[in-house]
Amino acid sequence: MHVGGAAEWLLEPKTLAELAKAVSAARESGMPVRILGKGANLIVEDGTVPGVTIATDRLNLMWRPEAQLGGEALEALLSELGSGQMPEARLAPQARTDGLRLLALCGATHQRLVSTVQELGWSGLEGLVGVPGHVGGGVAMNAGGKWGEMWSVVEAIMVVAEDGCLRILRREQCAPSYRNGNLGTQVVAAALLKFQLDEVLAVKERTKTFLKEKNAVQPVTEWSAGCVFKNPDKTQSCGRTTGQLVDQAGLKGRCVGGAEISPKHGNFIVNKGHATATDVLELVRIAQETVFERFGVQLEMEAKVWRAAR
Ligand SMILES: Cc1cc2nc3c(=O)[nH]c(=O)nc-3n(C[C@H](O)[C@H](O)[C@H](O)COP(=O)(O)OP(=O)(O)OC[C@H]3O[C@@H](n4cnc5c(N)ncnc54)[C@H](O)[C@@H]3O)c2cc1C
Repeated sequence: MHVGGAAEWLLEPKTLAELAKAVSAARESGMPVRILGKGANLIVEDGTVPGVTIATDRLNLMWRPEAQLGGEALEALLSELGSGQMPEARLAPQARTDGLRLLALCGATHQRLVSTVQELGWSGLEGLVGVPGHVGGGVAMNAGGKWGEMWSVVEAIMVVAEDGCLRILRREQCAPSYRNGNLGTQVVAAALLKFQLDEVLAVKERTKTFLKEKNAVQPVTEWSAGCVFKNPDKTQSCGRTTGQLVDQAGLKGRCVGGAEISPKHGNFIVNKGHATATDVLELVRIAQETVFERFGVQLEMEAKVWRAAR
């Protein structure tokens, strides 16, 4: 959103071992720990964000692991990664029809992921086109939409667990739901993603169509935190999305300071260039209050708010 203050401490690990160490050192010293992906779903308050913020930007590598990767081989590969080694020898290039898997560290961007798989003609993540973020943020938030979501391609993830150790969680050990990876305080370190083989042109065509449709309805060129609210239960909202409720409440185009409820999409608050987090959060309050008064629907935040000390 391009609003908000500074982090009290900012750590930028460049290996998974450093990530695990950063998380446990911060927890042991009793400081709050926050993980910053691309910041595409965050509203950071004005002031100083207390404690330790760990940015995943430098953990941005992505590989095609060997074709027959299961059971112990997967554990071995991920633990090599965890110890800071880069397992290049076992990750030789293969035909596009082999393996159908990508292993991505948490700071690899969605954009790179989507463009890599479309070049390979692998299907499963076309719906993530135009969704800014890092793999770790995408897994934590279960990013996606009507054309699919991150967890539909997750085979396993590696996390920094509550005790500070790196652990592998297979898909069946996790319970992702709508816009939530349900991982609690675990930090996503890496993800092993599995795709379906398709024709390159077909994947490219779908990706292009989805992006065009997304660009037509969302203010993608403006600063925002994506959808501010989750869509409500359809029975409660008579089938209406949050964007439609905000629109019908007459709130599109409503401004506070430099922040505006997007005239293009009611579930987006955009920064017109000089907004503060206080402006944005005031619009959040107005939208929640007005929609509740008009329709009796309580809008639940999808974007995460990071509280700051003044
Ligand atoms: C123009 C625009 C369009 C968007 N469209 C969509 C859309 O269609 N669908 C959709 O789902 N989202 C959408 N979003 C929101 C955003 O792109 C996604 O939520 C994305 O997954 C956020 O990833 P991030 O890396 O930026 O996470 P951040 O915003 O940095 O973090 C979001 C949350 O995830 C946590 N987190 C980040 N990394 C990790 C990690 N490694 N381990 C554990 N927790 C972590 C953070 O602590 C925070 O709580 C959009 C945003 C914008 C700006």
